[in-house]
Amino acid sequence: MSHKRIVIVGGVAGGATCAARLRRLDENAEILVLEKGPYVSFANCGLPYYVGDVIQDEGKLLLASPELFRKRFNIDVRTKHEVVAIDRERRAVTLKNLESGVEIVEPYDALVLSPGAAPIRPSWPGIDLPGIFTLRTVPDSREIRNWIAARKPQTAVVVGGGFIGLEMAENLVHRGIAVTVVEMAKQVMPPLDAEMAEFVRRHLESRGINLVLEEGVAGFERHGDDCLVVRTQSGRAFEAELVVLSIGVRPETRLACNADLEIGERGGIRVDDQMRTSDPHIWAIGDAVEVKNWVTGQWELVPLAGPANRQGRVAADAICGREAKFRGVQGTAVCGFFGLTAALTGATEKALRRAGMKDFESVYLHPNHHVGYYPGAQMIHLKLLFRRSDGLVLGAQCVGEQGVARRIDVIAQAIQMKATVFDLEEAELCYAPQYGAAKDPVNFAGMIASNVARGDMEIAPWNELESTSALILDVREAHEFRAGAIEGAVNIPLSELRARMGELPRSREIWVNCQVGQRAYYACRILAQNGFRARNLSGGYKSYRALYPEGVRETSGIR
Ligand code: FAD
Repeated sequence: MSHKRIVIVGGVAGGATCAARLRRLDENAEILVLEKGPYVSFANCGLPYYVGDVIQDEGKLLLASPELFRKRFNIDVRTKHEVVAIDRERRAVTLKNLESGVEIVEPYDALVLSPGAAPIRPSWPGIDLPGIFTLRTVPDSREIRNWIAARKPQTAVVVGGGFIGLEMAENLVHRGIAVTVVEMAKQVMPPLDAEMAEFVRRHLESRGINLVLEEGVAGFERHGDDCLVVRTQSGRAFEAELVVLSIGVRPETRLACNADLEIGERGGIRVDDQMRTSDPHIWAIGDAVEVKNWVTGQWELVPLAGPANRQGRVAADAICGREAKFRGVQGTAVCGFFGLTAALTGATEKALRRAGMKDFESVYLHPNHHVGYYPGAQMIHLKLLFRRSDGLVLGAQCVGEQGVARRIDVIAQAIQMKATVFDLEEAELCYAPQYGAAKDPVNFAGMIASNVARGDMEIAPWNELESTSALILDVREAHEFRAGAIEGAVNIPLSELRARMGELPRSREIWVNCQVGQRAYYACRILAQNGFRARNLSGGYKSYRALYPEGVRETSGIR
């Protein structure tokens, strides 16, 4: 019977999961969880909502206490204990009691590192001024709440327009604060492809968020008692009484580095598929490790709770001699702000390009989240990426007010099962009018992509719109065309196309668009069967507005 001594560093998402799983697998193991903060197993993901007062009771964020771990799982949890060193030779860690300052040494047979990732806080001038916060822990969120209660700020700047930054923006607005988001990239939500982020940008601006894109922060100054000034690299200045920095996180690798564990190319702890580090007695999980992307095969840092939990389980299994393996990450993520949801899974177009992959295609669609005849139907915007040569599903992004997460979850599982667009076409998904459609948006995405993969429809490359010599044919009705169209496009409504085909050139390619892509598909089929070279501008005018928010710059080739 084993009496393994297992020490876990970090007692939140990965660490707590690993500890509980270890106990379920090995009743005799001695399990010690060391956490430098005051709490274990707290809901980091709920912190922005606590700041926003959506969650009002701090106690709700604390999912399990050290007492619960002791009583229910017979696990020794010590909070306010920081592990300061690892002695790999003696298989022991040095821990410091942060209240008494006393250091002691604890031996281990297996060590699990789950120290997470720390918010990036660059050494910009003025970074330590009061009123500038980051958000990682319950005390961090309490500090922001206290600042709001004491100072009653009217204005805030959120630096960083990623998931946490936008969640914070929404929650500060809940508190009656006017928010400016300053983001260095050209788009919000950098994990999304730019045109999908465009839907998010429009929504945020419609809700009064002042979005400042392509502006890097240079530093902060204090003006008077209550006012901070955020200065950008281009010389702009934004006044605020509260600043939240959310420009990303950096894996906590200090312990691992000092112990000479291998660090990977992205700066995270390098592990194998059982989460074992370069030392066979040490495992590492969660935000601190780098992991292989399931689609591109590249190493990545993916600071998300789902992977951290799954890795905790895999590490526990491996320590207990089981065969479990971590499959890699797909970066499946979801975020909501002001009623809009944005979600993604697998690879984005930019990730595929970064990975040097060329054999892929993307399609856009803008269906309702449930049938249009049932009240409350909301349009969703979906982009599906797949391998051109065999239809393998590579990634998807979706933005909309309803039904977004469900579609991405289905496609996420399809990606993990290595499904193709033909599988999505065939997917049998639940349907009643208030939930979806007999042809669910996921089926639709599969059908459109299958049309492309089978060669029934060719997709026109949106990114060549400005330079193409193709004729742009808009097959919407005249009133739709008049309300806004691609610069230089020719309008022949679908219903008139058969009769007016003589007006179209046979020597030139024809790129067809409609509102969302469906009528253009019908038009492409008509044209192709009549000897024209026609391609569909996928997603139609809706996609055009997202891809070219300011219109095309060159129009010479279009007419
Ligand atoms: P953590 O959960 O951060 O735990 C690490 C713990 O280790 C920390 O408590 C730290 O104090 C402790 N520690 C570090 N070093 C030591 C040491 N030397 N000794 C002792 N203890 C140490 N993910 C999602 O998937 N969805 C979301 O909606 C989402 N929202 C988020 C919102 C916020 C505000 C934040 C901060 C994160 C959010 N995340 C979200 C990310 C998610 O919380 C993390 O991916 C996950 O918690 C990572 O788990 P982990 O165990 O690696 O690290």
